[in-house]
Amino acid sequence: MKSEHDEIKKRLHGYLRGTLTKDAAAMVEDHLLRCDECAEDYDRKHERHLKSLLAGLPPHLHLSVVLTVYKGLSMSETAAVMGCSEGAVKANYHSAIKKLSAGMPCIASTQGIDL
Ligand SMILES: [Zn+2]
Repeated sequence: MKSEHDEIKKRLHGYLRGTLTKDAAAMVEDHLLRCDECAEDYDRKHERHLKSLLAGLPPHLHLSVVLTVYKGLSMSETAAVMGCSEGAVKANYHSAIKKLSAGMPCIASTQGIDL
């Protein structure tokens, strides 16, 4: 007999990619709040998926995200490191977030990258 727990584990990938129906997504969200094991499993999948999406970005978009999000640099510091204007960094960053959001709906909902 399948438990709700096993059912959720199977649905985590669909949830990550935003392919679940509204009801199924609500069921997953509800379970993630109550179940530490599934929440941890989801976090691991989330991180792997994000890294694979990041790796697929064009180099200047990838770098703008790595420097601002992973290294915690400001837009002007990132511009200095990349040797371009702050406006160019902002444009790269937003373009990167847009591309990541397309493959990962949970990013679109938070408007930021969750590391
Ligand atoms: Zn669970």
